[in-house]
Amino acid sequence: MSGTLCLLVIGPHPDDCSIKAGGIAAKYVEAGHDVTFLSATDGSAGHHEMGPQKLAARRKRETEAVAETLGVEYQVFNIRDGALEPTLANRRRFIRFIREVDPDLVLGPRPNDYHPDHRYCAQLLQDAAYMLIVPNVCPNTPSLSANPVIGYVADHFQKPTPFEPDVVLDVTDVEERKIDALHCHESQMYEWLPYTFGELEAVPEGDAERREWLANDGLSHLVANTEMNVADRFREGLADRYGAEAGMQVEHAEAVEISEYGAPLTDETAETLFFF
Ligand SMILES: [Zn+2]
Repeated sequence: MSGTLCLLVIGPHPDDCSIKAGGIAAKYVEAGHDVTFLSATDGSAGHHEMGPQKLAARRKRETEAVAETLGVEYQVFNIRDGALEPTLANRRRFIRFIREVDPDLVLGPRPNDYHPDHRYCAQLLQDAAYMLIVPNVCPNTPSLSANPVIGYVADHFQKPTPFEPDVVLDVTDVEERKIDALHCHESQMYEWLPYTFGELEAVPEGDAERREWLANDGLSHLVANTEMNVADRFREGLADRYGAEAGMQVEHAEAVEISEYGAPLTDETAETLFFF
């Protein structure tokens, strides 16, 4: 593991990678590393006005905008939103995809989550983890010689175990890039998510006004429990990593809990993979 690194972020839906790991991805891209985002479903369910076909096409276009804005590859599986199942066929799909990307670090959700797609996406990632190196599983796609490090992105679920970060990362200096990426998820950030919170009227009209709103009230309100308070929630982790004083100054952070099913995070791999 040296030279150009490869980060793979797997999200259940088209907006999850940007929300949970947009900052880490921006840091990787800025340092010249390769980043791939994968949405395990087509995002065709989450809207109060648009039907599934139009919505899937729109969500695809939004991921293409994110790819261009962040400088990442963005793949979307043609699995219906709300219908992801931890089947053998989907496990094989995950195995093949991860092998083809051949990442040094994979980030995805934990299986404790409110949304079935999130739970099963996490399950599929866990089920694929060890099989990545087993040659007789999906033999047409060459197996990896070693497992990547696998990490979970932050969530706020408490049972059966709360998220416990191993690494808390300062992403303050790429926050604008992350907001730019989130701004591409127009149908989510300005329509569906505000709708689910009963806050549609709060969303401004103009493009610049919306981005401004998203960067301030909008985002903090919409994903209050999942993203914005990572720095405050895990201030201790930031102090450990960056020193007490610098840790206190961090405004925006993203956190990773290392999965036991991937390669272990040694001091050396930690320094390489989490270089910022
Ligand atoms: Zn989601």
